[in-house]
Amino acid sequence: MRGKKLVALVIAWALMAVAAAAAQTHPKLVVVIVVDQMRADYLDRFAAYENGGLHFFATQGADFLNANYDHMPTETCLGHSVVLSGRNPAHTGIVANEWYDRDHHKMTYCVEDAASPLVGDSGPGISPKNFIGENFSDWLQTSHPGARVFSLSLKDRAAVTLGGHHPQGVFWFSHSTGAFITSRYYAPQLPPWVDDFNRKHAIDSYAGKQWTPALDADSPAYHTHEVAGQFPHPIPEKVGPELYESVYGSPFGDELLESFAEAAVTANRLGENPQDAPDLLAVAFSSNDAVGHTFGPDSPEIADEQIRLDRTVGHLIEILSSRLGPQNILWVLSADHGAEPTPEAERELRHNERARRISFSDAQRSIETQLSSIFHLTGPMHWFAGQTDSMLYFDSAELANHSISLAAATHALSAQVHDVPGIDAFYDTAHLGSVEGWIGTCLRNSAFPVRSGDVYYLTSEWTLFSNKPTGTSHGYPWPYDSHVPVLLAGWHVTAQRIVDDIQVVDLAPTLAQLTGVHPPASEVIDGRPRKYLLATNANAPGEQH
Ligand SMILES: [Zn+2]
Ligand SMILES: [Zn+2]
Repeated sequence: MRGKKLVALVIAWALMAVAAAAAQTHPKLVVVIVVDQMRADYLDRFAAYENGGLHFFATQGADFLNANYDHMPTETCLGHSVVLSGRNPAHTGIVANEWYDRDHHKMTYCVEDAASPLVGDSGPGISPKNFIGENFSDWLQTSHPGARVFSLSLKDRAAVTLGGHHPQGVFWFSHSTGAFITSRYYAPQLPPWVDDFNRKHAIDSYAGKQWTPALDADSPAYHTHEVAGQFPHPIPEKVGPELYESVYGSPFGDELLESFAEAAVTANRLGENPQDAPDLLAVAFSSNDAVGHTFGPDSPEIADEQIRLDRTVGHLIEILSSRLGPQNILWVLSADHGAEPTPEAERELRHNERARRISFSDAQRSIETQLSSIFHLTGPMHWFAGQTDSMLYFDSAELANHSISLAAATHALSAQVHDVPGIDAFYDTAHLGSVEGWIGTCLRNSAFPVRSGDVYYLTSEWTLFSNKPTGTSHGYPWPYDSHVPVLLAGWHVTAQRIVDDIQVVDLAPTLAQLTGVHPPASEVIDGRPRKYLLATNANAPGEQH
C-alpha cells in the first residue's frame, strides 16, 4: 500500500513539475559562454575526443553552422560587444581593442575609464563607458524586473562588454595579483564571496605543475604539426605574476574561471531568483586565445586546450543542471573571433603557397615611401599617429606642417597607393558608402568615424603580419578569423544543425525572441531575430512565423 502511495505521489509531483515547466515563460537562467579565439571548425575537429560541455552543445543543441562576424578588425573587444548587443561596431562605437583618440593624441583602450578606478588592484580604471547603447543583459532587466546579471572572464574587456550597463557583478582577473577584481563603476568594494574566493587563492595550487596532454600523448588528436607539440609545459613554482601569466596561458586558466563561476552561482543563487525573473550568467573563457596565439590552430596544444575546455565547460553544465534542472537553463556558446593558421602549418599541412608571415613595418615602409613620392616630399615625414589591425590614423599635425589636407592624404592612400606587401586594398573611411560587395558591407558595419582610422586596410588572405618567427593572430574579415561557433541548447531548444548563413550580430535579438525579452524601441538593432530558423519544442506545428 505504502509503495503504491509513493508511486502516486511521485507521478503527481512529476505532473505538477511538467505543468510548472509548461507555464514557465522564461528560463530560470541564461548562461552565455564566449570562448576567446575559437574557430567554428574546432567543434567537429575534436568531437571524437570530447564528451563534456562542447559535446553537449554539439549533440543536444541547435548549431548554427554558418555564423560569421561581418566586421573588422576581428578582435576581442568587438566580438564580445557584438555577441549580446545585436549591434555592429558602427553602432556600439567599439571599433577596436584600442583606437587612436584624436582629442588626446594617444591610443585609448576600449574599456578604459579614468573615472572608474579598479577595486582590488591598482591600474587604469575600467567601465563600459565607451560602449554605446544597451545589450541583452540590460534588455533582460527591463523586461523582467529583478533579473540579475553577472559577467565573468579572465579579460576585463570580455567581462565588461558582455555585462551591459546595469549588472549586479562584473569581475575579471588581475595578472599582477592572481585575484578576481572589478571597478568602481560596478561596486565600491568586492563582495564577500569574491573576497572569500580570492583569499583561498586557488591559482597557487597550479604552482610547480606541468601542462601535459589530457589524453594519451600518442592520441591522433595531437597528430597535427611538428612546430608545436612541446609538451610538457612547466608552470612556475614560485607564487607571483609569472605563475599567474602561465596559468592564464594554459587550460588551467579556464579551470580557474569555471571555479569562480561556480562560486558566483552558489553565493548569489543564480537561477533561483526571488522575483522569479530569469538571471544571466556570462562566462568568457580567455585561455584559448593565449594558447592559440602562441601555438596556432593546428598545434597539439590547441587540441589539448579544446579537449580540456570541453571538460571544464562540462563541469559547469553538470553543476548548474543538477541545481536548477537542465530544462530550466538556456545555454549559449559562441566566440569573439577565430584565428589564422600559422603560415608554416598552412603551407606544410595544406600546401597553401599563399600563406606567408611578414612584418607590418615592411608594409608601412612601402606605404610611406609611396605617399612621400605622391606628395613630392624628399625629407623624412611622420605620416601616421596611430595604427591598429585594419586601421591607420594620419598624423594631422605633420600633415598641416607640410600643407597637406587630410582629404588629400586619405584620397592618395586609398586611390593611389598600390602593391603594398600583404595589403590588398585601402578604403577612405569618409567615403565607405560607395564601396561595393561584401567588403563594403563589412566596412560600413565597422566604422564609427570619430574613433575609426582615417583609412581602413584589408590584408591579403593568408598573410600574417607578425614580427615573431612562430605563433599567430587574428584581426581580419577572412573566414579563418570571422567564422565562429553559435550554438543554443537547453530551454525549449532541440538538437539540430542549421545551415542558413547568419551573423553573430543576430544572436542577441534571437535570444530576446526566445526569452520574451523586448529591446527598447529606441535601441538600434543590426541583427535579425532568427528564431524562425529553429525548430523549438515550445512551438506547436504551424506556430512559427
Ligand atoms: Zn579575443
Ligand atoms: Zn587574440
